[in-house]
Amino acid sequence: MDFGAMSAEGLIDALRSAHGAAARAQAAEVFAVRELYRRHRAESAEPGPGGVRAGEYAASEAAVALHSDEATMGVLIDIGLALEESLPRTRLAFEQGRIDLAKVRVIVDCTRGLTREVAGAVETRLIEAAERTEPARLRQTARRWAARLDPSGAQRRRELRQDQRDVRIRATQDSMAVFDGQLPAPGAQTVAMRLREMSLQVCTQDPRTMPQRRADALVALADGSGRLRCRCGRGQRCASSGAAAETPRRPLIQIGIPADSLLGMSEAPAFLAGYGPIDAALARTLAEHARFQVISEQDESGGPVAEARRRHSTARRVRALDGMCRFPGCVMPAAESELDHERISEGRRPTGGGSVRTEPIVLCARHLRLKALADKGKSGWRVARAGLDRLRWITPTGDVHTTVREGARYLFPHSDIDAPLAARTGSDRCESAPEPGLLPRDRPTAEELTFPLAGHLPVHRQLTRLAPEDEIPDER
Ligand SMILES: [Zn+2]
Ligand SMILES: [Zn+2]
Repeated sequence: MDFGAMSAEGLIDALRSAHGAAARAQAAEVFAVRELYRRHRAESAEPGPGGVRAGEYAASEAAVALHSDEATMGVLIDIGLALEESLPRTRLAFEQGRIDLAKVRVIVDCTRGLTREVAGAVETRLIEAAERTEPARLRQTARRWAARLDPSGAQRRRELRQDQRDVRIRATQDSMAVFDGQLPAPGAQTVAMRLREMSLQVCTQDPRTMPQRRADALVALADGSGRLRCRCGRGQRCASSGAAAETPRRPLIQIGIPADSLLGMSEAPAFLAGYGPIDAALARTLAEHARFQVISEQDESGGPVAEARRRHSTARRVRALDGMCRFPGCVMPAAESELDHERISEGRRPTGGGSVRTEPIVLCARHLRLKALADKGKSGWRVARAGLDRLRWITPTGDVHTTVREGARYLFPHSDIDAPLAARTGSDRCESAPEPGLLPRDRPTAEELTFPLAGHLPVHRQLTRLAPEDEIPDER
């Protein structure tokens, strides 16, 4: 299409028709993944108590194929099921590209607490409204109509909404993360008032703004110190200096940092488990109060003593080098994951007669279960080792996805062979921090850009447990 030659009207028409095509493509994605889920459910090998786990790895397969995350795929399945079960006209409008995924999501969300009759009465009108308005206003309209048509259902809708309470974090960049959630209003207000109270515990000379104090107060609540320390720097003259604060609990976080970054001889980034790269200066600040475990790169020395030491140190070494769950796209920190000791078939033996020493791998509870099923031949997945560093995941449809030891990329920067060259030429001991664009690529975090679904919690309860961080670990 030659947009340069088009009139303004032509451009708007092209925009509309492209958006309609995008909506039809979104509908195709939703119905394809829902169909995949239906098939997985039908042949589910280990459905778990009450069938809650039936079909759960349909989302894994779809996520791996699209390089998305499992929770997002779970939401697509949920929307597909809801459209099929109770919203036939919305489904049709979506298939025809008359309304896009963002609006479909609002309609699914706003009709979930309604009785069948009310939902039926309101659906057609909502589709008409959706064709005229943007999602935010559509949501308001839907809520107003629901309140009118079904005033006695307010309590039921509130209780349903309370089931969606949740708090989670989302990695952004530059060592920052979004902390975000949905709470019942009284609980949210309790947190807000407590943060405000803590923000006012410091003396008037504290240099921080209220937003900064609230943010620090939330962390102080979590680390057990329970009180905001004043930063006026006046020592005994500070009016709040007498107040005793509890010592912060450590460690609640794990960081991998190369030795020369720790010593300030290099600025290679460190790895904050569950988040991704943080800059070396921040890691050094955090290290002032840290407990240390040293992980050496080579651990190949022979002899019985070295062998015993190696066995002893294997678990923490594997966790440090793997850094996180080894399933493609999963970002569960190694410390919150399990070690899988099952033998993994080796794709290729090294020449020269030496045998590859197989180390266990780190898997979160959800993906450990997936691999256990694979080991028993009960799922279509296969897992194969490709050298000590690489792990191949072969999906039921034969796609191959490889994961590497992410933690090792940080601990031993020279092993990060995929990093752009410019970042590694010259001395590793450069004084200035490297350009942000040249840092090793972030591990994708559970942040979604392709699907406008943030904050959607599934209607179908079995689909609320697809994100690895939502798995409740078994008793250890
Ligand atoms: Zn002070
Ligand atoms: Zn995992």
